[in-house]
Order: sequence, then structure tokens, then C-alpha cells
Amino acid sequence: PDNNAPPMPWFGMDIGGTLTKLVYFEPRETNRRELDKETEVLKNIRRYLTRNSAYGKTGRRDVHLQMENVTIRGRRGTLHFIRFPTSEVGAFLQLARSKGMAALVNTIYATGGGAYKFEEDFIKEVNMRLSKLDELDALIAGVLFVDSMNPHECYYWAPPEQLTDTKDTPYLEAALSQYVRKPFDFSNPYPFLLVNIGSGVSMLVVNAPNDYYRVSGTSLGGGTFLGLCCLLAGCSSFEEAIALAASGDNTTVDKLVRDIYGGDYERFGLRGDLVASSFGHMCAAERRARVSRADLARATLVTITNNIGSIARLCASNERLERVVFCGNFLRVNPLSMKLLSYAMSYWSKGALKALFLEHEGYFGAVGCLLHYDN
Ligand code: ADP
Repeated sequence: PDNNAPPMPWFGMDIGGTLTKLVYFEPRETNRRELDKETEVLKNIRRYLTRNSAYGKTGRRDVHLQMENVTIRGRRGTLHFIRFPTSEVGAFLQLARSKGMAALVNTIYATGGGAYKFEEDFIKEVNMRLSKLDELDALIAGVLFVDSMNPHECYYWAPPEQLTDTKDTPYLEAALSQYVRKPFDFSNPYPFLLVNIGSGVSMLVVNAPNDYYRVSGTSLGGGTFLGLCCLLAGCSSFEEAIALAASGDNTTVDKLVRDIYGGDYERFGLRGDLVASSFGHMCAAERRARVSRADLARATLVTITNNIGSIARLCASNERLERVVFCGNFLRVNPLSMKLLSYAMSYWSKGALKALFLEHEGYFGAVGCLLHYDN
């Protein structure tokens, strides 16, 4: 046993613009002596976290993402993945306090803007010191670690080999519905473009574990999608916005190439069903009067997703990269955006670019923080 190891509990935390991600390392009890050494408070915290999947009103554990047999600082254990809205940090601290957290001598590694913004509150409420790490360093360390531990981490969406009869369904929609998820071997990843779609978007060129730079970004990200869905379609949660978008039709909102040309713009190979002008139909009062909430949510999703895809593609071709890895919680429960990105990457690069995705979506920054117990 490592006597210099920092005291438990071990947490990695990413306090983002929208969601706070918390990764908890549950040590596997190896012997009686260790079990006896665990204090009451520590035991209670461990039981509380691992026996529930909901905490307070808004905290959730993503049980399906749990990782067994992970080794950190020579200890074997299980990683648990927990999230709650950053707007609820106050309630989270109250909860942690009520579980006796303040009685423990504890430093936790944290990243994201909230690690700065809420630093004082953590000390005051639960006697927790936040050791702050850079969010992009943590993100990359987390991606590489989780991928090395989980053989199914990386995957892609494969298009149908042959599109089965589409009859009345528009081409793109028929194609997307037939995409299937397939595992991707990420053991030789470099170089790649990492696109993190959180509230906003960051794009990084990663050449090696410690060799990366931020090339680009856009403020039109997951926060924009949700904000616009709240405004335009009266949504009150991300899940609602995604479900609504999945049932909507953006062609009543967007102006397509065929709305302008009557068909394809053949000279430059632009198919008639491509969007020429996002929200372009909404200038007309009679169209606005007929549009549904679902169509507006769908158009918002398509607009934001395609804009990110197009910036990612430009970055990748500028930097001569072939693999584009997408992560961030915008892709949570959102296969539609993943398939749109896959389609767009491949279509606009004539097959040269591959879009890849990661199972632990938005948790990499928090995992990267947890890894610091290893140092
Ligand atoms: P950040 O670190 O900026 O909070 P995340 O990677 O956690 O970034 O992604 C936040 C985005 O994920 C939101 O803008 C929204 O689009 C999406 N999202 C997914 N699940 C939720 C949720 N339960 N509540 C709010 N937003 C969510």
C-alpha cells in the first residue's frame, strides 16, 4: 500500500458553463484491515453515492457509464459518473455538507470555469480545497485514459451500404435512419482533431499526449441549441428539446437548394435537399403561422450541428487531419447530431474525413482531474 497516497475520497470535478461533472473513485476493499480503517463518514459517502442513481432533485448518476477495474495510484476500483446542473452548485454543497463532507481533510482536483468561480464556496461550505487544473489538459488526459481502459469507448456511425427503398422519405432522412453504430480501434489515434461540444465549442489539434493546441472554436454550441429551443419552441429541458427535434422536420423552416433552384444546383454538385439558408423560410408570415414547435427544434439542431461540422471540417483539412473526434454533452442522448456530423464530414470531404465519437461524452475533463491522484 502507498502510504503517501492522498486521503480518500477521490473525486475529479469539471464545473462547466451548464453541467457539473463529478467522477468518483470507489476503491475496491482488498482486506479486512483496510475496511476497518475506513471512517464512518467515508463509508456513508461511499454508500450514498454507489447505492443511489439520483441525488437531490437534479443530480444523476450515469450508471451505464460506470467503469470497473480501473487502477489509480496502485489502487483498484470503480469509476462512477455523476452530473448536475452548475446552477445547483449551492444545493450540491449543502448535500455534501449534510453527509459530513466537511469533517474530512480533502483536496479535490477540479477544472472548468466553476473551479474558479466557486472556489470560496467549497472551502466555506464543505472545507474542500479545489486544486485547479486546466480544462483542455484535463480533457485530453481524460480521453486518452478512458479510451485505454475501455475497448468500446470509441465508435463511429456507418452509413448503409445500399440505401433500401426510400420512396416517400427524403434521401437524407432515409439514409440517417439506416446508420449503424460500429466500434472503432483508437489505439493509433494521432494526429486527430478533438471537437468538444459543451455550452460552447473548442477544437484542438492533438499530435501526441502532451502535444496539442487549440485551433478554433465557436460560441454557437450546445448552450445555443438549448437556449434557442427554449426561446423558439418553449422547451424546458435538454431532453425535451432533443425529443422534439427528433420528431420534427426542418424543411418547413429551412430554405433548401431545391426551394431556390427547383431541383439540384448541378453545376457545383449541390443536391436539391441540402439546406441553402437555415431558417430561410421563416421570413414569410404564412410559413411562420404553420410551423410547429418540433420543426423549429429540428431546424435549430440541424443549424447548430451543421455549423460545428463545417468549422470542424475546415480545421481538419487545414491541418491535414483525417480523424475528427467529437465529445461533450451536446451529444448526450443525441444520435441525430452524431449521424448528421458523420454524414457531413464524409459528404463534404468526399470520404476523406472520419467522424468518431466517445461513449463517456462529457466526462473526460472530470476524469482528467481524477488522474492527478496518480501524480
Ligand atoms: P459545459 O462544460 O460547458 O457545461 P458540457 O459538455 O457539459 O459543457 O455540455 C453542456 C451541453 O450539453 C448543454 O449546453 C446542452 O446542450 C447539453 N446537455 C446534455 N444534457 C443536458 C442536461 N441534462 N441539462 C442541460 N444541458 C444538457
